[in-house]
Amino acid sequence: MHVTSAVSVRVPAKVNLQLAVGPLRGDGYHDLVNVFHAVSLFDEVTAAPADRLEITVRAAPRSRVDIGGVPVGDGNLAARAARLVAARLGVEPHVSLLIRKAIPVAGGMAGGSADAAAALVACARLWDDRDAPALTRDDLLALGAELGSDVPFALLGGTAVGVGRGERLTPALARGPFHWVFATADGGLSTPAVYGECDRLRDAAGEPAPDPAVSDALMAALATGDAKALGAALANDLQPAALSLRPSLARTLAAGRDAGALGALVSGSGPTCAFLAGSGEDADDVAAALDAADVAAQVLRATGPVPGATPL
Ligand code: ATP
Repeated sequence: MHVTSAVSVRVPAKVNLQLAVGPLRGDGYHDLVNVFHAVSLFDEVTAAPADRLEITVRAAPRSRVDIGGVPVGDGNLAARAARLVAARLGVEPHVSLLIRKAIPVAGGMAGGSADAAAALVACARLWDDRDAPALTRDDLLALGAELGSDVPFALLGGTAVGVGRGERLTPALARGPFHWVFATADGGLSTPAVYGECDRLRDAAGEPAPDPAVSDALMAALATGDAKALGAALANDLQPAALSLRPSLARTLAAGRDAGALGALVSGSGPTCAFLAGSGEDADDVAAALDAADVAAQVLRATGPVPGATPL
């Protein structure tokens, strides 16, 4: 077998531009329409040969990510990704994975899924046997879908529409760059808890969940690069549930809107809030206002769309 010394892969966070949540299905999942957008907050995963599977997690240089809640054993999604690639290639999962995190943990930006995607790419390269066909992009996308609904998008990057559980993806035309500000919060929100709260709120209101449909206004705004129209079309059906579980997020959203953000929403299941600005300068203003209002653990700037998991 061809032996590679170490492979590093950079992988972006995502924000959901639209997250439409349909009724709960018999299998416990919801039908979703999910417009994913990859933004320039990156984790980096380095895979190197080892005599067993080892995971090390660090905050990326200059990032203040709280890595306390990230498992270092088999619970880490990157470890599961490494095992899946090894099983598929018929090799032992002997690899040391160093994860440098800049994506907020349990923040609704799919950091765990991003690390899994990066580990898939890194391990596939590390164990690439020149005598056998390498894993294709489609193979990795299929392995990613086994790991979680957000993993295939972290491989793909850019902007894409996901249907089903969110994992069946179609790339979307998006003219960027769009300028984003993210306000992180102390303490994560559990994704299953937020979906549960969404169902509870809908039951209590006696509202049947509508079938999810992609927003034409959103897709048009992306295709033309119209930040103002995109800001108006941002939508997240999980937002009422995230606000119900974390009422303080209402102040965070209001502070960004007051500072001139073109759109403000909870990212995925939260608690990170995302703000779209009209330009880099406007984003600086929104970021400064959020800092001054003291409504965020950390205020981060990013642009999107950016590519998915990429070897360095
Ligand atoms: P999503 O947006 O996909 O719902 P999230 O951004 O809210 O995800 P993650 O940062 O992916 O949340 O982490 C959710 C949980 O997954 C963490 O609390 C942690 O226990 C677990 N986890 C497993 N592997 C990782 C990883 N590599 N990085 C971060 N969390 C991980």
